[in-house]
Amino acid sequence: MNIMYHDVAVIGGGPAGLAAAVAAKKNGADVVLIERDSALGGILQQCIHPGFGLIRFQEELTGPEYYTRFTDQVSALGIETLLNTTVLEMDAEKGSVLCVSKENGMFTVQAKSIVLAMGCRERTRAQIAVPGSRPSGIFTAGAAQRLINRQNIMVGKKIVIVGSGDIGMIMARRLTLEGAEVVMVVELMPYLAGLTRNRVQCLDDFSIPLKLAHTITRIEGESRVTGVYVAPVSEDRKPIIDQEFYVPCDTVLFSVGLIPENELTRQAQIEICPRSNGAKVNQYMQTSASKVFACGNVVHVNDLVDNVSAESERAGRNAALYAKGEWTEPKEFVYSRAKDNVRYICPQMTALPSKDPSVTLFFRVLEPATDVTLQLVNNDKVIRTQKAIRVNPGEMNSITVPADLLSPGELTVKVVKEA
Ligand SMILES: Cc1cc2nc3c(=O)[nH]c(=O)nc-3n(C[C@H](O)[C@H](O)[C@H](O)COP(=O)(O)OP(=O)(O)OC[C@H]3O[C@@H](n4cnc5c(N)ncnc54)[C@H](O)[C@@H]3O)c2cc1C
Repeated sequence: MNIMYHDVAVIGGGPAGLAAAVAAKKNGADVVLIERDSALGGILQQCIHPGFGLIRFQEELTGPEYYTRFTDQVSALGIETLLNTTVLEMDAEKGSVLCVSKENGMFTVQAKSIVLAMGCRERTRAQIAVPGSRPSGIFTAGAAQRLINRQNIMVGKKIVIVGSGDIGMIMARRLTLEGAEVVMVVELMPYLAGLTRNRVQCLDDFSIPLKLAHTITRIEGESRVTGVYVAPVSEDRKPIIDQEFYVPCDTVLFSVGLIPENELTRQAQIEICPRSNGAKVNQYMQTSASKVFACGNVVHVNDLVDNVSAESERAGRNAALYAKGEWTEPKEFVYSRAKDNVRYICPQMTALPSKDPSVTLFFRVLEPATDVTLQLVNNDKVIRTQKAIRVNPGEMNSITVPADLLSPGELTVKVVKEA
């Protein structure tokens, strides 16, 4: 079998892989970028709406405009790119990556370090177990987005969207602009799953009803969807069947969450955080396998691509240092512990003493709250506080702390309601 030798192998050519590859190259490594799709850009290829790059470029870009700023650099820096190439397996200890492509068949990329940037995938109807028949007209929101925006195929005329995730809300607007009727967005929880700005810009501005604390109980139809039953849910999220009502429609979209694409991570026996479902990393984006770094949605599902680019540059830079033999293995850590209203914290551990002057912890809450103080607590001592007008499960939060304030042991974030 053919073997290609490189310093750094980056798996995945979305925004995370692009930023990591550029940073690794700029830090002196010879890089190969491996992407299973026929083009670079990842999920942003189908995100033709604006809203990208507000933090990084202080401009409102579309998805393709955003990733082009990175693909231009990939070309200018002469980074080797393998398209239509899927990574099947990885040996984290040896640094070998088994690939397959139509052009090259099976071959191995042998690298000194690896960056995982495989993104995430959508949860489907099956994963939330919606009863009913199995007619055509049922899509995940991302699949519908790809059909409409990349393949110019309209998915239906009268639509019900299940879940108030960002992709579902963005698709509600897109379908309305394309002439469909979006009858309603149905959300199980009593609060929104996605960003507030998407509710305002994609639902409220188009008078699309949002039914919070509701679920669909059944899908009806033989060859094509003819309608769904919707019911309010009780506090324990059980449908109240005697209040069920019928909604005629020909299409159902599911926008019920994203899961990091972690098959390779698992297969390579890299530790996975049960709360974020992605690889556990330290502040250098290094995983439990020392030569493997990870970034972007394969680590934790991000709502803003700007944060993805920043953490991926860190992953790429550190993977390059590792490959060049300029790496000292961290020995002592402070471990992040998500408790109470905090679902997960990333990074899961911070190496001490830190090479970087400050450390940013990203986290998501389980329940919404308003007028709160975020407390960063290190071994029972509050080392940082930050006020927040509101925190929502659909929006990532962060808190930054000077690294020299941290001591080995435990680090938690507390969300404290102001008196
Ligand atoms: C519909 C939608 C709307 C969004 N809107 C906004 C917005 O308005 N503003 C904003 O800032 N952010 C937005 N985001 C968030 C942002 O786009 C994502 O967080 C970001 O794209 C994640 O980048 P990534 O590189 O981690 O993943 P992806 O973009 O998913 O890239 C992963 C890549 O890895 C490849 N890959 C996976 N497995 C393999 C393998 N085994 N071998 C080879 N290649 C592989 C995939 O083909 C893919 O190209 C949106 C996201 C979505 C899904």
